[in-house]
Amino acid sequence: MANDLVIRALKAKAKSLNLSSRNITELSKDFAKLPEVRDLRVNNNRLVTLPLGLQCMRQLTELNLGNNAFEEMPPVLKYLHSLKKLHLFGNQISTLHAEVLENLPNLILLNLNHNKIKIIPPAIKSLSNLERFSIADNQLEEIPAELGLVSKLMEMNLSRNKLSEIPQELYKLTRLRKLSLARNGLRQLPEGIPGWKNLKMLDVAGNRLSMFPVNFHFLELEEFYFEENDLVRLELFTSAKVKDVFPLKELAARFIMKEHLNKLSRASLLLPDVQTMLSQSGRCAVCFEPFLTTWVECVQFISLRKDMGIKNSQNIPVRVLLCSYSCFNKSGHSYYSVVNAKP
Ligand SMILES: [Zn+2]
Repeated sequence: MANDLVIRALKAKAKSLNLSSRNITELSKDFAKLPEVRDLRVNNNRLVTLPLGLQCMRQLTELNLGNNAFEEMPPVLKYLHSLKKLHLFGNQISTLHAEVLENLPNLILLNLNHNKIKIIPPAIKSLSNLERFSIADNQLEEIPAELGLVSKLMEMNLSRNKLSEIPQELYKLTRLRKLSLARNGLRQLPEGIPGWKNLKMLDVAGNRLSMFPVNFHFLELEEFYFEENDLVRLELFTSAKVKDVFPLKELAARFIMKEHLNKLSRASLLLPDVQTMLSQSGRCAVCFEPFLTTWVECVQFISLRKDMGIKNSQNIPVRVLLCSYSCFNKSGHSYYSVVNAKP
């Protein structure tokens, strides 16, 4: 039956071929004679491998291999350089071959949902045209920093994995509009969140977040899902009579940053260490003075409706950093210390 369709496609010089849901266990060798096909659907079958002859399909732009029994990305894919959309959802894939990823430069959509993938290789960065990446419901425990180099990404779904953190490099994905990190084990999101300047939808439901990163409320979100987390609540103390004791390095760094900013920018060109040091510095939310590695961690409660324009009556905790307890003890702000809220 499937072979009949292949032969018919052959005669008609068809541009698309649909062999989905036909209980196929193997593709015939006649595929090698179908170089004109651009859209091939063989999803919902029982394939475990693809014939090498498939490499003749140089014009193939869309390939649906979803819901089969592949245990790896079929190696023949590395010859299909024209591929733009590749569906591999619902298989048994545990390994992504770097060699395949490195040879799909035109891919704009990659769907790997519902597999057994534990590792995304650094070669993911080769997918320089990828706009939509979905790898939900796998076994990922970490994300490589190189995913932050897939600069055209607009939609990414990493939900239902085993992630406890994400790399800060993901904030380089400035075109990202939709991101789902739901149902992982995330304890916090790294600092630098304003990098996601085009993000409209964020789903972090079902994680272990206690608060959101500094300046979270400057995101221009339209949709935000955050239920089932361990968010801190507004039951914390508002002042602490603690005297500031800073390490000498911190005092020296603050002095330099405050008094010698112009000289420092010149020095930083010469000394990479100074540059690295400055990139880690922050500014106090009360006095706006710089600090280096010592701060007082606080939280402010942001109204989703008033401060972010999201249709939700809840408040969320957002991290705030102050330079000192003396700033914390000043009146006129509504920041709460979280010293007692940490486990
Ligand atoms: Zn301060």
